[in-house]
Amino acid sequence: MTHASRLLDWYDRHRRTLPWRAPAGEPADPYRVWLSEIMLQQTTVATVGDYFRRFIERWPTVEALAAAPIDEVLSAWAGLGYYARARNLHACAQVVAGQHGGSFPTDETALLALPGIGRYTAAAIRAIAFDQRASAVDGNVERVIARLFAIETPLPDAKVEIQEHAARLVPQQRAGDYAQAMMDLGATVCVPKSPRCVICPLMAACRARKLGLAEDLPRRAPKAERPTRRGLAFVLARKDGAILLRKRPTKGLLGGMDEVPSSPWREGKLNAEKALAEAPVPARWQILDGLVRHTFTHFHLELAVARATATTERLARLAPGTSWCTIDRMTERALPTVMRKVIAHAVKA
Ligand code: SF4
Repeated sequence: MTHASRLLDWYDRHRRTLPWRAPAGEPADPYRVWLSEIMLQQTTVATVGDYFRRFIERWPTVEALAAAPIDEVLSAWAGLGYYARARNLHACAQVVAGQHGGSFPTDETALLALPGIGRYTAAAIRAIAFDQRASAVDGNVERVIARLFAIETPLPDAKVEIQEHAARLVPQQRAGDYAQAMMDLGATVCVPKSPRCVICPLMAACRARKLGLAEDLPRRAPKAERPTRRGLAFVLARKDGAILLRKRPTKGLLGGMDEVPSSPWREGKLNAEKALAEAPVPARWQILDGLVRHTFTHFHLELAVARATATTERLARLAPGTSWCTIDRMTERALPTVMRKVIAHAVKA
């Protein structure tokens, strides 16, 4: 029996029920496969579930998503992080709806040409949506393969070797189920800490298990330290409780999202006096106790928060591109998690 047939037998008995997964034996919907794969990049299955359901309810087809205003998509995405993905998601939906007649292309080159689709996502779509013999290697699969073949080279150097092994294992039949079986095995059995080898369908063949190395693999090259950037965020509240927001530039970190104004985020100690000069309007700014902390891919962020109440005279001096939003309407805005933390900090202080 091959690795693949053992794994498929196991999958037929233990497959996870996931909101985007087609029932056993039924063809997958490429739109759902694509949407879930984009959402799952750098985000857990548990977090994605509710977002996926909301997106499908609101935009049941790729054409519906393509026709949605980008601000609504960004707002529905808020909290999932990595907002460039939401912009690419929308751009991709528009290309699929406008240039491919609403059907996702089936070949690798055409998929890779779509916004936001890289090698892994293209392979996952080809395998799961179209049952093609493509090898989709994400972090979970990397771990399973590194252990199965006892690959001791640290990541990322081991990537090519892992991908070669993974590609050889993909079966001729049921490639889509096989891809999902590998993902399920990595997520539920061959887990990062304390892999559950005794219930693993690949136990007899697994080299890391035989060598007693399972928990140590995959090895990873030490990561560079993330720097910490600091800044001062300004929460300007109107008498009715509405808060001043502005839109971030379209390009770059949190592109096109809403935010409260802040001083530039820089490494080094924060000079609060100097940072106050960046306030959106002169006011009696009060710097609150405590800091808001958030971690992005490449840096940690520490924000001090200053709060002030707006007067009519100050309102007249507001920069263009700013707007007011009451607390009960914040969920309708494309506010990244860090900004939700800042507002919560200012409101409770
Ligand atoms: Fe992972 Fe253990 Fe299975 Fe090997 S036997 S693939 S280490 S769960």
